[in-house]
Amino acid sequence: MAARIKLLDEHCINQIAAGEVVERPLSVVKELVENALDAGARKIDISVEGGGTALIRVKDDGAGILAEDLRLAVLPHATSKISAITDLDDLRTLGFRGEALPSIASVSKLSIMTRTPDDVAGQELKVEGGTFLSMTEIGCPPGTVVTVNDLFYNTPARHKFLRSAVTEFGWISDMVGRLSLARPDVAFSLRHPNNILLHTPGNGSLIEAIAAVSGNDAARKMLPISYQDESLEISGYVSMPEHVRSSRSGLTFFVNGRVIRSQLMNQAIKDGYHTLIPANTYPVCVISLNLPPSDYDVNVHPAKLEIKFKEEKNLSRKIAEVIRKNLLDGVPMRRYSFTEK
Ligand code: ADP
Ligand code: MG
Repeated sequence: MAARIKLLDEHCINQIAAGEVVERPLSVVKELVENALDAGARKIDISVEGGGTALIRVKDDGAGILAEDLRLAVLPHATSKISAITDLDDLRTLGFRGEALPSIASVSKLSIMTRTPDDVAGQELKVEGGTFLSMTEIGCPPGTVVTVNDLFYNTPARHKFLRSAVTEFGWISDMVGRLSLARPDVAFSLRHPNNILLHTPGNGSLIEAIAAVSGNDAARKMLPISYQDESLEISGYVSMPEHVRSSRSGLTFFVNGRVIRSQLMNQAIKDGYHTLIPANTYPVCVISLNLPPSDYDVNVHPAKLEIKFKEEKNLSRKIAEVIRKNLLDGVPMRRYSFTEK
């Protein structure tokens, strides 16, 4: 006998969607930081306990959420960032799917404290496992603090699939490093109980942000790259050919300030360094592309780490060329004197 078809309830839909958006603690950190950046934050402080399952807290000094919108923020497909699909052709924000907060809310105990600069008091919203608990007026500075406790407490299958707290924290810290390089104009900090692990100056200098993430020595081994035409800007730093790693862990790419993973960029780097570095070794590269949002599609996967470029071949060739030219002619940052921290 055929099984009956029924519509899933909202709670169930959110938990299924959560599987794609919040795969593990690092995805929560990425989504919350991206929300803070979209809100125009200049300073973002991240605290993590227990590899992210005990606590993830992201505090920003951005625009805040209006009291009357706060309950909407945790509903699926509710967003302030787009109104129509055509808005994606000129997308300037990192978010647009309206899925992160409802997904996170459905698999954790979530609190959002927020205040806009024009309001005298803030609001705190509490949601547990997707169920609304309370909304109360509180005193807080302008901006938003999102606290995620007990991530995956109600999805044991997902919880079991996580690695050790140390491993999960390592991935979070790697992601925060990448996010902070994407936006050297924003001051990031990452804290673990009693320990500040990362602190970027937020003064707009990419090389200073690289030094904050990887150390001054690593930063001094980098060469600046840059290129610009009417529709494409390539900038960033690449390591001198004598400084390579055995994995791709040092490759960081941004497109219009969005951290992405990209086979195309991996290949462009391989081509750019061709014959200059041994086979199966990888340089350290922090490469930022700026191009019109209509030249690529970010709506490929809910995690938004993958993007599809329209002019793949030309773009890849251009990046490889720019890297190669700068490797052959460029001057490394050896003598750069970093601002005292
Ligand atoms: P999206 O980012 O795709 O819009 P989210 O579920 O991540 O969806 O967030 C929903 C909405 O909540 C956002 O569109 C934004 O208006 C608001 N929001 C979330 N986080 C913040 C924040 N840190 N500061 C201000 N507004 C926020
Ligand atoms: Mg978002």
